[in-house]
Amino acid sequence: MTTTTEPPSAETRPIDKQALLARYIAERDKRLRADGNAQYLELKGQLAHYLDDPYTPFVERAPKTDHVTFAFVGGGFAGLVTGARLVEAGVTDVRIVEKGGDFGGTWYWNRYPGAQCDTASMVYMPLLEETGHMPTEKYAHAPEILAQCQRIGRQYGLYENALFHTEVEDLSWDEPNARWVIQTNRGDRFTASFIGLGTGPLHVAKLPGIPGISSFKGHSFHTSRWDYAYTGGDPSGAPMTRLADKRVAIIGTGATSVQAVPHLARACKELYVVQRTPSSVDVRANAPIDPDWFAGIATPGWQRRWLENFTANQAGGTAEEDLVQDGWTDLSRRIRSKIMQLPPEDRVPQKMLAAYEDSDFEKMEEIRARAEAIVTDRETAEKLKAWYRQLCKRPCFHDAYLQAFNTPGTHLIDTDGQGVEKITEKGFVVAGVEYEVDCIIYASGFEVGTEYKRRAGFDLTGRDGLKLSQAWAEGMKTKHGIHVHGFPNAFFVQPTQGANLISNVPHNLTESGRTIAMTVKHALDGGYRQVEVTEEAQAAWVALLLTGMGRMMGAPDCTPGYYNNEGQTPGPGAQLNVGYPAGATAFFTYIDAWRSSGEFEGLVFS
Ligand code: NDP
Repeated sequence: MTTTTEPPSAETRPIDKQALLARYIAERDKRLRADGNAQYLELKGQLAHYLDDPYTPFVERAPKTDHVTFAFVGGGFAGLVTGARLVEAGVTDVRIVEKGGDFGGTWYWNRYPGAQCDTASMVYMPLLEETGHMPTEKYAHAPEILAQCQRIGRQYGLYENALFHTEVEDLSWDEPNARWVIQTNRGDRFTASFIGLGTGPLHVAKLPGIPGISSFKGHSFHTSRWDYAYTGGDPSGAPMTRLADKRVAIIGTGATSVQAVPHLARACKELYVVQRTPSSVDVRANAPIDPDWFAGIATPGWQRRWLENFTANQAGGTAEEDLVQDGWTDLSRRIRSKIMQLPPEDRVPQKMLAAYEDSDFEKMEEIRARAEAIVTDRETAEKLKAWYRQLCKRPCFHDAYLQAFNTPGTHLIDTDGQGVEKITEKGFVVAGVEYEVDCIIYASGFEVGTEYKRRAGFDLTGRDGLKLSQAWAEGMKTKHGIHVHGFPNAFFVQPTQGANLISNVPHNLTESGRTIAMTVKHALDGGYRQVEVTEEAQAAWVALLLTGMGRMMGAPDCTPGYYNNEGQTPGPGAQLNVGYPAGATAFFTYIDAWRSSGEFEGLVFS
């Protein structure tokens, strides 16, 4: 592969903000489309085979009809960390129900070549200290993260009760018996005193609704079901030798594609990277972790210190030290330093927002300059430039993606924001030109803006027949993002309405796991059968959330994507997709005090 060195440093060409804003708006307008989320195809019927599990054979088993103390929907990080904390609290019969063939959630499914975490392993991988695992790299690759999930499962005995290749179809509260009845697609009908829900935000693969998509006669698959039998190679990065004589198209240039493209560029005879909107691709700077260094820092409590430090650097804190030092903390440090340059009397919201915008213009100019410095073909480099604010789309970090476009046989097919025109028997069409290929790989992402019920595959039925879809008809309403009035003994494990920390989602989950385990232990120790948030406490929490600044990511004037509901007017509930107004660090401090006090203020135990 031809490589070009990194540009020496940020270019300091003058920034014309008005011109940049005009360009951002023009690029957004080009991409706005009336169908929003409806442009994507749900993978059912004729397309259901795209969801087949290529990794683990299906094993027949008898349906379950027993009772467990705690049932958890989803075997990813949320289920694993909550399960682990429950086991530590003495609840040993935890049953995790998972649609994949093993634990791992997103890391079970996403085994595409080059998959790795985008947040530093030291803070991203859960329960490192508890399991004694040292990450091998600053940004661990997918097989190591999957192995960590399996390690947690084994260490805490979570495999014994788990149900894999099983999808929950119904969860209903049985009031007289104060328990949940759980039914699945495998004929299970068992009960649980408590339930947890951690189905994750990005687990339902979607395809672009391109005309003719079913007519393609070559091979095709979605990145979350990578077909190594077809490509050769393996998730650890072994070369995909079977692609040496193949013409391959990868549709989509989001975070997944950015990681997979360098591997495909090395392997394919011809690679077509089909782009609708370029990603912003900043420096990665991955490196192995030195065991001697690790031994020095891994003193008791180390992971919590790292988590808190990363969050403090990220979420508006004032940490002096930056342990992680990466693109995420850099982003926050820059914003903070711009704000600190303001005279104290000017540190008012309007001027702080302007400082934030200035910092963003500078960052994005650097990212565009990076494309220019790395990609040798001028026209390709221009097309790889992202024209939007950094948090309009998921920021990406990679040191081989832009370089891949210097590889002979790798072609950027830019659709000028319009997407693929159609798929034919032989390939795909962009701007009236048909490209014949042997294989189409869909790096087209996952459902986000669709209804919770559709993505989860069930609708919770709580007290008095209340459906979760009714309770949340006007948007999500919880206390701490965990408890919902009308749904006793049920706990949600996800970031929204809690810390809402997007740069390190596992931090949200590990804290929720701790909170839930302490709540359940309190109920069990006290002989209580039910725990539920009061309507008043929930309303007060929601009111508090609404006093904040609102969402910082995916503003309506951003180029469309899942951060801003594909550019469509968000529903009435969008304003509730926020976190604790004082920020993530303040939330974690608050929740620690809340649960440790033993009062569990706002919950009623009966
Ligand atoms: P995305 O939804 O981010 O990307 C989908 C891509 O498909 C976009 O580039 C989109 O273009 C493109 N697309 C959609 N429709 C068409 C069409 N009709 N024609 C051409 N292109 C089309 O999915 P990803 O799987 O890349 O990432 C999803 C999320 O998963 C990430 O945002 C991230 O949160 C997470 N992720 C995390 C990773 C990590 O932490 N290591 C790695 C990978 C993913 P457009 O932008 O114009 O919509």
